Amino acid sequence: MPHTAGYRGRFAPTPSGPLHFGSLVAALGSYLDARAVGGKWFLRIEDIDPPRCPPGAADTILRQLEAFGLHWDGEVSYQSLHGAAYAASLLRLEQLGLAYPCSCSRKQWRQHAIYPGWCRDGVRDVGKPVAWRLRSDLGLRPVAWHDRLFGPQSFDPETLGDVVLKRKDGLWAYQLAVVVDDAEQHITHVVRGLDLLDNTPWQRQLQEALGFAEPRYLHLPLIVSTEGQKLSKQTLAPALPEEGDAVRSLLFQALQALDQAPPRVLAGASVEAQLEWAISHWSVSRLNATPSRPWKQSE
Ligand code: GLU
Repeated sequence: MPHTAGYRGRFAPTPSGPLHFGSLVAALGSYLDARAVGGKWFLRIEDIDPPRCPPGAADTILRQLEAFGLHWDGEVSYQSLHGAAYAASLLRLEQLGLAYPCSCSRKQWRQHAIYPGWCRDGVRDVGKPVAWRLRSDLGLRPVAWHDRLFGPQSFDPETLGDVVLKRKDGLWAYQLAVVVDDAEQHITHVVRGLDLLDNTPWQRQLQEALGFAEPRYLHLPLIVSTEGQKLSKQTLAPALPEEGDAVRSLLFQALQALDQAPPRVLAGASVEAQLEWAISHWSVSRLNATPSRPWKQSE
């Protein structure tokens, strides 16, 4: 078994609803990538946006992961409890001159593709509620990183804009929360769905600004319906089961979606046997760098 010293991975679902097949593929890919090298795998519930998170959804996710044998290390981490860490990082960015309050509304700048930075040198409408943004116009350079599947990535900072770190309603924004938590948990490898690739440049900018280490990134092909739509709550993707025979079959299908070519005999095997095979055979080089995998529930 190859060993990557100190590998620390994570699965970081937003509990906006139960997990579906697409989330299973992302969870399984990150789990296998960690376990194949004897690494740690953590679970972080990204519940920073309470109106989007129905009560009980996080517990459902925990039960679903358990049913699929995806056992995490240590305690579950909840973003709703990390406000102090986000506030400390925002303060640091402000002290560095890299974060500023902004009173502008989307309506005011709708003629522009990205926020034009009007509040960079002082809030425009003093007294109005403010969001906080990252100042991206200082030290501009291409934001680049290497994705383990999709290769070299490069984004022009001028197309990124000043990303929101804290919203006007006081809620923390995903980009800041995810970067702070990945750093606090010493995450070395981020493995997640391709829908998040576009977010990575802001996360790289924030890591640089805050002096955090750059994790390695692997974005996984997205699972789409046979009509080509991303599986999601909006497209009525069925929730993963918490027990029963369907668990084995869906786990097998997830291994196929990850291009791991599991042998047919494994299809009816227990969750433990499937995972054991998958951990010892996990190979990123088997993954095709095509952006999506159509999938249809077979039962
Ligand atoms: N919470 C994000 C989501 O569920 C994922 C965050 C991440 O993996 O970086 O889409």
